[in-house]
Amino acid sequence: MSNSTPWRKQRGLLLAVAAPSGAGKTTLCVQMTERFSRLRYAISYTTRRPREGEQDGEHYHFVDTGRFDEMIKAGDFLEWAEVHGNFYGTPKAEVNQMRDEGIDVLLDLDVQGVATIKEMGVDGVFCLILPPSFDELRARLTSRGKDTEDEIDRRMTIAVKEVARIDLFDYVIINDDLEESSRTLESVIRAAHARRTGLDEDWFRRTF
Ligand code: ADP
Ligand code: 5GP
Repeated sequence: MSNSTPWRKQRGLLLAVAAPSGAGKTTLCVQMTERFSRLRYAISYTTRRPREGEQDGEHYHFVDTGRFDEMIKAGDFLEWAEVHGNFYGTPKAEVNQMRDEGIDVLLDLDVQGVATIKEMGVDGVFCLILPPSFDELRARLTSRGKDTEDEIDRRMTIAVKEVARIDLFDYVIINDDLEESSRTLESVIRAAHARRTGLDEDWFRRTF
């Protein structure tokens, strides 16, 4: 491919998508990675143990706390946070390399991570997926069938705190009708691709 192919004209996007658990973030993000061939998840580092079926280097890079601390000290993380007693961090070099190659990077972050990245002034696109109501959120968590009643109560308490940080986000998608939400998220990504600020200035000067 020559340097003048459209995706070479722009640095890849940094797309941070957050949602209360059960709102439909995974469903929507997986659809986006199927729709945009140059959109990839950044694979975070975590100190939590792998769940059944999770592969090292695919879902997360699983490390011990010693290694995680070393990485913090070395400045290897774009952001890191403690979530439910485990540590999670976004690898800086991997994200920058993908973006430099024109690949859009999808970050799966909790709201602390979104707040950190936002405060750093990183030029991201910040999206919050919401359920139509808290009642519907509870119904989806119940019908997903992965959590106990206690776990659902805990997720609902966290959801209230997450929704309170709506100020961090550029876009809010109410995931009522899945197809409609999917089209909206796709439009957000397409609009971000057309941002003047994302244009490669060298390419622009060479071309016009
Ligand atoms: P999250 O990643 O935000 O925790 P999931 O993508 O796992 O959420 O979705 C939670 C549950 O809700 C899943 O069973 C999913 O199929 C369902 N779901 C997602 N979006 C919708 C929607 N718009 N309407 C009804 N159910 C939905
Ligand atoms: P889980 O352990 O269920 O995969 O993830 C727990 C929480 O950690 C989720 O809210 C997820 O979005 C968040 N998370 C995953 N990776 C990172 C990361 O690199 N940084 C931050 N801040 N949160 C993360």
